[in-house]
Amino acid sequence: MPVFSAALRRLAAIPELSVRENAPLSEFTRFGIGGPAALLGDTNSEPAFIEAMGAVQDMGLRRMVIGGGTNLVVADSGFEGVVLRYTGSKITRIGNTLHAEAGAVLQDVVDQSIAFGLKGMQTMTGIPGYLGGAIYGNAGAYGHSIQERVRQVQFFDGEQTVCFDNEACQFRYRESAFKQHKEWVILSCELEFESGPPEELAKTADEIRAIRDAKYPPAMKCAGSIFKNLLIVNLPAPVVTRIPAKAIREGKVASAWFLEQTGARGMRRGDIQVAPYHANLVYNDGAGTSADLVAVIEELKHRVYDRFGIELEEEVQYVGFDYVTAPA
Ligand SMILES: Cc1cc2nc3c(=O)[nH]c(=O)nc-3n(C[C@H](O)[C@H](O)[C@H](O)COP(=O)(O)OP(=O)(O)OC[C@H]3O[C@@H](n4cnc5c(N)ncnc54)[C@H](O)[C@@H]3O)c2cc1C
Repeated sequence: MPVFSAALRRLAAIPELSVRENAPLSEFTRFGIGGPAALLGDTNSEPAFIEAMGAVQDMGLRRMVIGGGTNLVVADSGFEGVVLRYTGSKITRIGNTLHAEAGAVLQDVVDQSIAFGLKGMQTMTGIPGYLGGAIYGNAGAYGHSIQERVRQVQFFDGEQTVCFDNEACQFRYRESAFKQHKEWVILSCELEFESGPPEELAKTADEIRAIRDAKYPPAMKCAGSIFKNLLIVNLPAPVVTRIPAKAIREGKVASAWFLEQTGARGMRRGDIQVAPYHANLVYNDGAGTSADLVAVIEELKHRVYDRFGIELEEEVQYVGFDYVTAPA
């Protein structure tokens, strides 16, 4: 399309930005699913990233920023716009603080914090993706989430670079101000830690890693949990009375519990499989399509709604679907 030829020329002129046409997003998502992006721009340079965002904005094209692609469901038809990926990954230590660029692999941040004897991210070991994606979704595991470590986040709001402190980020369970303002793009952040013995931190991380690798084998094409867990305070009282006490932890019920009551484990459609051992884990077991993936997600939501009258909410983010709350 002429509009994308012009955009290609403009983006290709930005130093340190590599641009591809019709880039198959299946190669950029852990699900291994998704059609092409009209254009995909990749850079590890913050100025190039900001310039690219400005150019896409000027040209009035749809834009989507991705990180590691570990929490994305991309349409089979792809994305008729520009996908931008920032891979700036510098991590710098200043005392008990790490300053890290948003394109840093989260596991690298975890590993470095442990090596420096900085305590607080060891339980986040094994969460895939980049730091920017983790802040966007307030990623966490084992009772801790990244919000506990964030001192400041630097982001581009479409016009300028802005710095938010922790409170301004409005972190909640798998939520942040950035999820509410999808036009904001995280560039870097400062993370604060306490001190801790590296061997102890590494031991905790290794134990968690072994459990996680058994649940999510490294080659599994998935997005971790499809749905958010449910906060007890948000559930209607008649539903709460049906939940056994042992299914409630830290004020939440796993959405897997609801799904399991509907017999969802092991469900399959095409090559999309609900794990036989975990009803909130859906994976691509071969050549799965997003049509089948979305159909499975809808079916799971219907089952829980029919049985309990509650709506499960996706943790995964959609790309290229016009009918959902996708960012673009
Ligand atoms: C096997 C497996 C296990 C997982 N386990 C967990 C877990 O235990 N806990 C957990 O919380 N999550 C888990 N996840 C989900 C996922 O890893 C996290 O949500 C991760 O933080 C997403 O990061 P990403 O870079 O891959 O983001 P992407 O999938 O690329 O993007 C996700 C969203 O973040 C936005 N985004 C990405 N980068 C930026 C940026 N720089 N600025 C603004 N927005 C941005 C995107 O626009 C998109 O909406 C798991 C996923 C997998 C595959």
